[in-house]
Amino acid sequence: MNSVYIIGIGLIGGSFALDIRKQYPNATIYGVDHNESHLDEALALNLIDEKAELSDLQNADLVILSIPVDAASEKLSTILDVVSDNTLVMDVGSTKLPVCKSVDNHPKRRNFLATHPIAGTEFSGPKAAIANLYQHKTLIICEVEKTAFKLQERALKLFSDLGMRIRYMNPEAHDKHIAYVSHLSHISSFMLGKTVIEKEKNERDIFDMAGSGFASTVRLAKSSPAMWTPIFKQNKENVIETLEEYIHNLTHFKAMMEQDDFEAIFDEMQNTNHIKDILNGIK
Ligand code: NAP
Repeated sequence: MNSVYIIGIGLIGGSFALDIRKQYPNATIYGVDHNESHLDEALALNLIDEKAELSDLQNADLVILSIPVDAASEKLSTILDVVSDNTLVMDVGSTKLPVCKSVDNHPKRRNFLATHPIAGTEFSGPKAAIANLYQHKTLIICEVEKTAFKLQERALKLFSDLGMRIRYMNPEAHDKHIAYVSHLSHISSFMLGKTVIEKEKNERDIFDMAGSGFASTVRLAKSSPAMWTPIFKQNKENVIETLEEYIHNLTHFKAMMEQDDFEAIFDEMQNTNHIKDILNGIK
C-alpha cells in the first residue's frame, strides 16, 4: 500500500494514520480536511506527510473517510466518482444504513467497504489521535459481499496488521444494536451532566464533591456535538426506541423509591450486576 488518503484527520482518521505509518513505513499518507488548522496540526504531529484535495484521490490505494456521518453520506458518491478501479474506499462512521444506501446504485459500489471501529475516546481533532487505538478492538463490517473480493482482501490484511477483530453485520442490525450500547450511553451521559450542572450552579462544589463514579459516568458528555448530532439524526428511530425503554426504567425506579420498595430496588440492582460478567470479556 503506497498511497493512503485520510479524509477527516481527527481522532479516528489520525489514529489510523499513526498505525498505518508504523505497519506500512513506505506508504505516503495524505490528509484531506476542511479545517486548515487541523491539517497543519496533523503535519506537525507527523500524522500525515502532505495535504491533499478530494480531486487528488485517483492515485489512492486506500481512502479512509472519517468525517461526521452526515457529511460522509453526502461525500461518498463524489469520492467514488474520482477514485480508480483499484482504490479501496472505507468509511468509519458510527451509523451504517444511510452511508450504505447513499451508494447502493453507484457504478463503483464495489470499491467501497462500510466499517465501524468500536474504538475511540471523548476527544476530537488531530491531537486526540492515539497509537494502537485499534489493537484488540472490534471492527464491524457491513455488506461485505458488495465490496470487490481483491479489495476485501486488502482491507482484511490491513485490519489484521492493526490487530483488529472482525464482526460482520447487516447495516440495519448494526444501527439497531449500536443505538443501545453506544448512542444511548452518550445521551444518558450528556443528560446526567446537564442535570448536575443545572442543580449545582457553583461548579466548584461539583468539583469538590464529585467522586470518580461521577467523573466516569459523565466522561462521554465531553464528546463533540458536531460529531454526535448527525449520528442521532441518522439513527433517530432506533435511538428514540432505546430512550423509551430507558425512560421507562427510570420512571419505574422512581416509583419504587416513592413506594419505599427498597427490596425491589435491591433486586433490580442485583439483577443488573450481571453486567460485570457480560463486560468481563470486553477490554
Ligand atoms: P473528529 O476528531 O472531530 O475528526 C473529524 C475531522 O474531520 C475534523 O478535523 C473535522 O474538522 C473534519 N471534518 C468535518 N467535516 C468535514 C467535511 N465535510 N469535510 C472534510 N473534513 C471534515 O471526529 P472523529 O471522532 O475522528 O469521528 C470521525 C468519524 O468516526 C465519525 O463518522 C464518527 O461517527 C466515527 N467514529 C467516531 C468514534 C469516536 O469515538 N470518536 C468511534 C468510532 C467511529 P472540524 O472539527 O473543523 O469540523
